Amino acid sequence: MQLHTPTLLVTLLLGFLLLTLELGVAQRGLRARPELRRWTLGNWAMLGGFAMLFARLVLPEWLSLVLGNGLIALGLLAYVQALHLMLRQAPPPRWTWQVQPAMWLGLLLLPLWSQDMRTVAVSLLFAALLLPAVRLILRHGWRDEPSLRTVAVTLGLALLALLVRAGHALSMPEEYQSVMQHSLGQGATFLMAFMALLGAGFGFQLAVFERVARQMEHLASHDGLTGCLNRSTTDALLAHELRRARREGRESRPVSFVLMDLDHFKQVNDQHGHRTGDAVLRAFAAIIRQRLRGSDALGRTGGEEFGLVLPGADAEGARVLLEAIRQAVAAAPLATDELGRPVRVTVSAGIAEAPAGTTVSADRLYGRADQALYEAKHGGRNRVEVYGDSNPVQAALPLNTST
Ligand code: GH3
Ligand code: MG
Ligand code: MG
Repeated sequence: MQLHTPTLLVTLLLGFLLLTLELGVAQRGLRARPELRRWTLGNWAMLGGFAMLFARLVLPEWLSLVLGNGLIALGLLAYVQALHLMLRQAPPPRWTWQVQPAMWLGLLLLPLWSQDMRTVAVSLLFAALLLPAVRLILRHGWRDEPSLRTVAVTLGLALLALLVRAGHALSMPEEYQSVMQHSLGQGATFLMAFMALLGAGFGFQLAVFERVARQMEHLASHDGLTGCLNRSTTDALLAHELRRARREGRESRPVSFVLMDLDHFKQVNDQHGHRTGDAVLRAFAAIIRQRLRGSDALGRTGGEEFGLVLPGADAEGARVLLEAIRQAVAAAPLATDELGRPVRVTVSAGIAEAPAGTTVSADRLYGRADQALYEAKHGGRNRVEVYGDSNPVQAALPLNTST
């Protein structure tokens, strides 16, 4: 069987040019995506490399050989760098620069070899450059970035195909006497390159966009300062838990909602500065997170006010947890200010329980927790109160009192 190699090469170049242009356009809309920029750079190098191989029809053979294969190798190195930037979030490893002088020196010797031995050498070089790319994904991206699996599989198949090609060239040198030869070996090589470059290119692009989408989702549902959920997500979560409790009726478990507010926090800002205030808020959130179960959710519902959704916890369970939190916060300074002074704060908390089979709305439960918090503040602060423990007082309080 014969494959028309020049046709395949032209298809490869055109398909690849399109992908590279699309990549270029796509990344214009995204800021600070060095991995995408590096991959696009790799694409241009690959494109130049294949064009150089094709240019053998008009250029001296040695020039096409050295530049063509050299640019393809640079492209593969850029892919490794792009994957590194994406998965390790660190500058590309130094070896990707250090191997280059030796690589070019080796390539300069290529014209001295027979065509089939060049094929063996170049195939092994490309396979060796693909290996770190595949390894990087298997180690650091396989689980978390599903689209990178396509990249790993296509690059892995290309690696295998290159090894087969090296073996094939050794056993059947007559199939590899010129780049444009209409042989199964040369044809299959370009077909494989076409599939690998497009498959990996699209896979990588998709993985980057998936990551951007995930980051956007996170920004939309979380608070930037403390990493907690934001107000609307906390509200939605509480409503979701209460709907579930209502649906499950008597079989359901109670849900507790807690509002926490740092005491006299304005003074912290006034005495130690706003930045120190921010550090305290972050430290406070971290202390609470350490004590939560997987199903619990912590949200920042206002400036120095936090909400806790505790599915499966009754008021007593919530009180035990909040007492532990209150004591931990009061026990040690949460931060030191710019002058090195320790900053101590205390927290007040209000708990409201929705018992099993509850029909109470999220809004109402929120209001009850707010009333309990109001009580804790008026009872002297640095306290935990449960809604309903002292009903007569609550009856006199307005809902949603600001604390
Ligand atoms: P109380 O014990 O009654 O809760 O008194 P308080 O001073 O904590 O309450 P108040 O509501 O008067 O003040 C809250 C302060 O929280 C005012 C505001 O400057 C501060 N604050 C709100 N958001 C942030 C933030 O993101 N960073 C910092 N550093 N401070 C914040
Ligand atoms: Mg406060
Ligand atoms: Mg407040």
